[in-house]
Amino acid sequence: LVRLRARLARSQSTLGRGLLGLLSRERLDEDTWEEIEDTLLTADLGVAPTQELVERLRTRARVEGLAGPEQARTILREELIALVGPDMDRSLRTDRHVTENRPAVVLVVGVNGTGKTTTVGKLARVLVAEDRDVVLAAADTFRAAAADQLTTWGDRVGVPTVRGPEGADPASVAFDAVKTGSEAEADVVLIDTAGRLQTKVGLMDELGKIKRVVERHGPVDEVLLVLDATTGQNGMIQAKVFGEVVDVTGIVLTKLDGTAKGGIVVAVQRELGVPVKLVGLGEGADDLAPFEPAEFVDGLLG
Ligand code: GDP
Repeated sequence: LVRLRARLARSQSTLGRGLLGLLSRERLDEDTWEEIEDTLLTADLGVAPTQELVERLRTRARVEGLAGPEQARTILREELIALVGPDMDRSLRTDRHVTENRPAVVLVVGVNGTGKTTTVGKLARVLVAEDRDVVLAAADTFRAAAADQLTTWGDRVGVPTVRGPEGADPASVAFDAVKTGSEAEADVVLIDTAGRLQTKVGLMDELGKIKRVVERHGPVDEVLLVLDATTGQNGMIQAKVFGEVVDVTGIVLTKLDGTAKGGIVVAVQRELGVPVKLVGLGEGADDLAPFEPAEFVDGLLG
């Protein structure tokens, strides 16, 4: 977690410094409040959260006074943490169902290119480091390269990858993987899916079928939606579409290392009503971190 903070400081501190600079001004006039609002909107925080935050800050400035940078920082920190949602349950449901003798099942969905496969690889590594047995499922059967990429991650992390021939039914690959996982008494099966977003109906059919077929073994424990933090409004549209198609239980925000627009965390949580559980901070195997509001805000404030 120390790393989450340090890494975020690198990409997000421009935002934090900008806000602190503005809030520390001697006179907080209307122009300054407008600048604060613009800064938050530019960081992809979204209109409603921006207005709420500015309102809270204005009230506190009025009631408590903002006597200098020190206090501005304290107040901004408190309000940002509150906005990010310190009480949301961000734990991953990856515990094996011992009594039913089956693994936890995690479905990973999202548009191609957002970092789905990389996230599955990184997450497998985290779980293996926790001494858990993991099976990967390459349910993106449309591109052989996708299954190859996942298999490479599996080999790297030292876990098996279940895949089918090119063009195989994604749901049957997912089903086989859960069966393999059950027989091997694995703890977790991570299912990488295809993310072609040409038609909502097509996507709905495919993800719906995977979920239904897998559920013959038992309920899916997590549906993680992977979103690329650098895509701004586009990412929000994707979140909306996927949110309508599957019951997303957690968000993975990737490429947070490549943007200063950390406000997307709040915007996307609001859109879907589910927490950001993990963040991607780079392309490497260790560049995945559990999301933690206070660490995030401290990274933001540098
Ligand atoms: P998929 O098509 O959704 O499975 O996406 P991939 O996993 O193939 O990732 C697409 C690209 O994004 C690859 O070049 C990854 O290395 C890169 N990527 C994934 N996650 C991150 C991240 O957190 N930070 C950065 N900088 N790059 C990432």
